[in-house]
Amino acid sequence: MQLRIHNIRLGFATNSSSDHSIAFFPNHGLQDREIDGSFGGDDFVAVSDNAKKLYLAAMLRENFNRQFKNWDSQWTRIIIKELLEVDINQVEDMHMDHQSLITLPLDPATNDISFDFAKQLIEMVRDPSVVIFGGSDNNVRNTIDDFSTVTKIEVPFKDLGDENLVCRYDERYHFWTLFNKNTGAKIRFSFENVPGAVNPEKSSVPDLLDCAITNRCFSACPFCLKNSTHNGSHADYNYISSMIYYLSKMKIFEISFGGGEPTLHPKFVDILSCCKNYNIIPNFTTRQIDWMEDPIKIRTVMDLCGSFALSVKAEYGDIEKVARATAILRYHKLPVEKMSINIVMGTIDQYFFKQLMEELMELGIRKMTLLGFKNVGRGLTYRKIDYDWLVGDLAENYHKYPSIGIDTVLAAEMQDQLRAAGVNNVFYTVQEGKHSMYLDAVKRKIGPSSYCDPALMISLPEYDADGFILSRYAEW
Ligand code: SF4
Repeated sequence: MQLRIHNIRLGFATNSSSDHSIAFFPNHGLQDREIDGSFGGDDFVAVSDNAKKLYLAAMLRENFNRQFKNWDSQWTRIIIKELLEVDINQVEDMHMDHQSLITLPLDPATNDISFDFAKQLIEMVRDPSVVIFGGSDNNVRNTIDDFSTVTKIEVPFKDLGDENLVCRYDERYHFWTLFNKNTGAKIRFSFENVPGAVNPEKSSVPDLLDCAITNRCFSACPFCLKNSTHNGSHADYNYISSMIYYLSKMKIFEISFGGGEPTLHPKFVDILSCCKNYNIIPNFTTRQIDWMEDPIKIRTVMDLCGSFALSVKAEYGDIEKVARATAILRYHKLPVEKMSINIVMGTIDQYFFKQLMEELMELGIRKMTLLGFKNVGRGLTYRKIDYDWLVGDLAENYHKYPSIGIDTVLAAEMQDQLRAAGVNNVFYTVQEGKHSMYLDAVKRKIGPSSYCDPALMISLPEYDADGFILSRYAEW
């Protein structure tokens, strides 16, 4: 028995005083210790089926009390009795410390706790090879380390509050995707005991849609893969909103809006708002900060979006632009951590890169994404700057830099070097169209990525687009 983790996108932080660990220990020879229905910061070990059922009952009780917003409602009691044959009225002092509580994810379509997820979790925990260790940060490590070398993985489903964690089960490939709407952390995994579980190199529904809502941009970057210009067209708002509706039917988690320059779209705020209404997290990439100068607009945008990326290039005034954006966010007491910095590799040299890293750290910016160079659009004629130095530089200096994400193109280019540097491949994917896809809402076409072969871009029907998208996506 093991939990198979296929892919993790980090971006979350956890902190706890009590510390419970679900561990996989075949042939452990352990006995229950200190089991009484209260699972807090005191040391305990749950080995027998009865002890684990009590643990699970305490966990379910906290989750359903949150969902029903009613302490021990009859529904909570009935569900726990049905799933675990435990009568919570008969257990004195049943309790689970909120710092160690596994938050059960919600089904994004109903916003209710996913029963399918709960049932598979219960089945996994009740397997005889699973042991639950409890205690506090100070003592649980010793308890576990008595038995084995432990690799501890923090997964993004600990005490997130009520509504931030959603899940989706992939019916075709038999794995779960958990998505933390608050931090963007995402994890794909399968419970080993699910029949047909495979290492999912592809999902049957994308997690993420990359969406161009305009082809207008005033930045005139000489490497622009979209060939965006100052007189490019905007996508029709009604068309975008109907597509968002279809994407919500598919249970897509996130949309990343780009362009062109998405903030130039006259309905930009309405588009973000439409996503929020359909329970999809909207993100965007921008090179402009004009929208931040309007105190009402910046508040609205920051409230609606999951995060945004400010694109930086080696141009006079760009670092000052980042400093200004940071200062505006701080002035309005808005979360600076919602902003990250994007850099297209191949457009900067190592000297600029290092200088930028230093400036970002001084400004308190802790997140950036490096994008691989794309030989499409104006990138075809751009003479790119070599970036062979990148992995070596990161390996040497990562502790002095913000936390760095890379896109699929860069991951594919640097795969050998990443492997040699010991980076586990659960942290990156190297192919487009496997868990994400692209919609050009201006041209009304979909494809595996924004830089794919134009022959792969397909026109979308206006009605019943969800079925059409899923059937095409399955082919990429
Ligand atoms: S690369 Fe981005 S910022 Fe530059 S011109 Fe193209 S769309 Fe505008």
